[in-house]
Amino acid sequence: MECSCCGNDRENVVALRCHDDVKICPGCIDWLHHQTGQADSTPILSVTDMPAAIAFYEQAGFSTHEYEPGGGYTFVAYDDENVFDLALDGKSGCYLLVPDVDAWHARLVAGGITATDPDNYEYGMREFEFIDPSGNSVRVGTPTG
Ligand SMILES: [Zn+2]
Repeated sequence: MECSCCGNDRENVVALRCHDDVKICPGCIDWLHHQTGQADSTPILSVTDMPAAIAFYEQAGFSTHEYEPGGGYTFVAYDDENVFDLALDGKSGCYLLVPDVDAWHARLVAGGITATDPDNYEYGMREFEFIDPSGNSVRVGTPTG
């Protein structure tokens, strides 16, 4: 079925509640959600054996995409939508995708939270990290592209 927003032919489109003739795909819903300025959170699970973790989640019906083959970071998707990430020997926590990483950093630091300085990374994100009192990592980022 054709997405009313991007025009692409998609298997999974949903109609708006108020206009059932307008049907949009998950990618366009995601885009629309980001336009509201709300943070989008992706959990990050710490794993000790990446190949075993990938085999496990693929057996469970997810698809996986390694950031670098054999590397320490893997994206886990269900039905083409990223649902969580795996970090080898990393800290468990989450990744918050926000519209303005510098505003988020300024607000947290003004509130007395210790955080790394925002920096641009080669994977296309400007991000910083803070650690909660229990050791959970919260990474906050905005795409640079
Ligand atoms: Zn679309």
